[in-house]
Amino acid sequence: MEPKPNVSFENTSVAFAHRSDATLKKMRLLFKLMHYPFWLHMGIKLANGGLKWGLPIQGLIKSTVFEQFCGGEDIASCRPRIQELASYGVGTILDYSVEGKKELSSFEATKAQILQTIREGSGNPHLPFAVFKVSGIANVDVLTKVQAGEVLDQAETEALQRAEKRIGEIFAAAAEAGVRIMVDGEESWFQDVIDRWVLSAMATYNRETAIVYNTFQLYRHDMLRRLKDAHHDAVAKGYFLGAKLVRGAYMEKERERAKEKGYPSPIQPDKEATDRDYDRALQFCINNKQRIFLVSGTHNELSNQVLSELVDLHGMKRNDPRVYAAQLYGMSDAISFNLAKAGYNTAKYLPYGPVAEVLPYLSRRVEENSGMAGQRSREYKQIKQELARRKKARSSFPTIGKN
Ligand SMILES: Cc1cc2nc3c(=O)[nH]c(=O)nc-3n(C[C@H](O)[C@H](O)[C@H](O)COP(=O)(O)OP(=O)(O)OC[C@H]3O[C@@H](n4cnc5c(N)ncnc54)[C@H](O)[C@@H]3O)c2cc1C
Repeated sequence: MEPKPNVSFENTSVAFAHRSDATLKKMRLLFKLMHYPFWLHMGIKLANGGLKWGLPIQGLIKSTVFEQFCGGEDIASCRPRIQELASYGVGTILDYSVEGKKELSSFEATKAQILQTIREGSGNPHLPFAVFKVSGIANVDVLTKVQAGEVLDQAETEALQRAEKRIGEIFAAAAEAGVRIMVDGEESWFQDVIDRWVLSAMATYNRETAIVYNTFQLYRHDMLRRLKDAHHDAVAKGYFLGAKLVRGAYMEKERERAKEKGYPSPIQPDKEATDRDYDRALQFCINNKQRIFLVSGTHNELSNQVLSELVDLHGMKRNDPRVYAAQLYGMSDAISFNLAKAGYNTAKYLPYGPVAEVLPYLSRRVEENSGMAGQRSREYKQIKQELARRKKARSSFPTIGKN
């Protein structure tokens, strides 16, 4: 007989308890549409153009993909979602998701938003982490030049110094507020610069606990070694390593650039290699739990199973603050809510920002849900299954009202 897993992701009534019938039906339609990626991509393109031309389509986007994957346009409008997740034991990670801007004013505005998420999280157990992307507050062209060892002109040097100052302010504010802060992993051609900044902040602020977390993308074939090196550095210098593990979001871009510029691709040869390193990295972090604080950011059922088993096997409390599982809002509720119900620390990234500005983020989510056969059909199947379950329950107990 197969051993029973310590948490099951099959329970759709737990997964969707926070969704009304009407919302589930809307979700069913949305995920069904994702079976037609061509039309969906056309839709996103049209939405992009339409918003630029001032067409009145904001409402349509807001009531469909935006509502599914985002919390609101600002922090205040995210609060009901934060409360809702909290009532099921799921934490929220507010993620200001405006991307792709290169103006100074935008970097400053994004920094102000990140500082606001830190203030919002201070003393609030329902907001266990803050998060940001360095590309939101720094010019990545300058960072790319730094990593490539190119000489910067005066304006670029000043831009770099300003970026460093912004990042310094964010880490200092998080440490002051006692709010753990994660830095997202980005493209390999400027990630080294981010790593240097984050490692140095960890050595400063992670003396008694982990405040600052860096991201390790296991789709890179050098990342397990980099994780081990980071652990070695933490041991040698006596600080705690904050490690968020992900598989990685920029695989196509990475491969294309490597091919175009003629250097070896940093990406693993195949999905199996990524999966193997991800689970090894989980194992490495839990084996070294005295020194590493872990956030596992994945929608992969098996990796979430591995994590929950490791926690139990090591005799850790399921709500030990050193270990969190995280998923994105609007995806993999079966994982998040079942993990939370079983007592494991679980949180959702909740993106927010003006509708027109979060379109790049939304395009990626659509891409992900239409591109990954397993993931796409899993969401759709689970929604259908839950609607059928409710219908059956109502016909057996006709007094149960529709919500
Ligand atoms: C909470 C959270 C935070 C995140 N933060 C970041 C971040 O900071 N930076 C970032 O880059 N991404 C981030 N992501 C996205 C993440 O990297 C993945 O793109 C996404 O979660 C899909 O991977 P998975 O583990 O959930 O699922 P799976 O479906 O098991 O894995 C899909 C992933 O496997 C890898 N893969 C697929 N095919 C191949 C192949 N042929 N060869 C090698 N590898 C392959 C790719 O990374 C792909 O995204 C985050 C995700 C979550 C849930």
